Amino acid sequence: MKRKLTNILVTGGAGFIGSNFIRTMLKKTPEFTGRIINLDALTYAGNIKNLEDIEAEFGNSIANKNEQRYFFEYGNICDREKVEEIFCKYDIDTVVHFAAESHVDRSILQPQAFLQTNVMGTFTLLEAAKKYWNERKDVLFHHISTDEVYGTLGENGFFTETTPYDPRSPYSASKASSDHLVMAYCHTYGLPVTLSNCSNNYGAFQFPEKLIPLMILNMLDGKELPVYGDGKNIRDWLFVEDHNIAVWNIINNGRTGEKYNIGGENEWENITLLNRLIDIVAQQTGRNTDKLRSLIVYVKDRPGHDRRYAIDCTKIKTELGWKQSVTFEEGLAKTVSWYIENRDWTQQLRLRNI
Ligand code: NAD
Repeated sequence: MKRKLTNILVTGGAGFIGSNFIRTMLKKTPEFTGRIINLDALTYAGNIKNLEDIEAEFGNSIANKNEQRYFFEYGNICDREKVEEIFCKYDIDTVVHFAAESHVDRSILQPQAFLQTNVMGTFTLLEAAKKYWNERKDVLFHHISTDEVYGTLGENGFFTETTPYDPRSPYSASKASSDHLVMAYCHTYGLPVTLSNCSNNYGAFQFPEKLIPLMILNMLDGKELPVYGDGKNIRDWLFVEDHNIAVWNIINNGRTGEKYNIGGENEWENITLLNRLIDIVAQQTGRNTDKLRSLIVYVKDRPGHDRRYAIDCTKIKTELGWKQSVTFEEGLAKTVSWYIENRDWTQQLRLRNI
């Protein structure tokens, strides 16, 4: 049965990937003509300014209210009443669930919020969807997850969709738990779901606690560039816009009850990535490369730091015809110039004392 994809509830749409997803849907995907309802609790990572352009062009302030396609709802995904009210008010037929506590380091220090939002929040959304949709089949609950649920790899091999789960941080354990719940609602109650596990995203609007924006901004401010352990941990890097096109493909054509890995096929040791970033920042700002390199400091490793993640994304490529559209060089150059040109964005985070 054809999915409706008319009234999409995006959770966590004020965060990094969610805000990029909303922009991709409303500005770059002419096939999508429906409405987006963004439910976000605006935690430290959520930022309503990430969507100022969207609000102006598609939101509440547009002249003809009948043409409004973007709606912001402030609220917590753990709030059952609020979630049910949104399902009714907007006649939601699709959920794209990004909202989460997303930073591994924070999960090591304060795991409770991760269990609350990532596990109980997902449970609350699933319950509301089950109740409101009541066995409809033209609807979809798409859950966004991470490759970190699979654990860590040695020098060789890749995570596939059938790799057994082996989460090793409170963050990945909470995401693994939510993945299992989503699949359980499909198997037990017949809820139409899809799930994607992606690798590290990078791009505009990423909160500067994550590696790439942290390093760019520290370079611009002449601050130290802290590298965990020996700097040789390996991550696969995926440009956020490519990720969101993959999600669009899945919600359109992904098979119900299936999971899809999304990766950049772009593995880098942290220290090699940092050196590449230094070159790009130097190129774009005229700063001295050696001076930037002298800011690197090696710091005590993250407890339980997974060594290598790498994704096999053959399934989404062959089944749905998705592929990455930018090279790492292009993606990094775009990202660096965005952070250089949008210093006021970082400035307002500082004003919020974050
Ligand atoms: P983010 O931290 O930038 O944004 C999370 C958003 O969720 C914020 O807007 C925040 O306000 C909102 N939120 C948090 N708790 C909430 C709650 N209880 N109720 C409502 N809203 C809440 O995260 P991100 O980097 O954009 O990640 C989005 C999703 O993608 C997450 O599920 C994450 O696990 C997953 N993911 C991210 C990456 C990555 O590299 N960033 C990689 C793999 C998977």
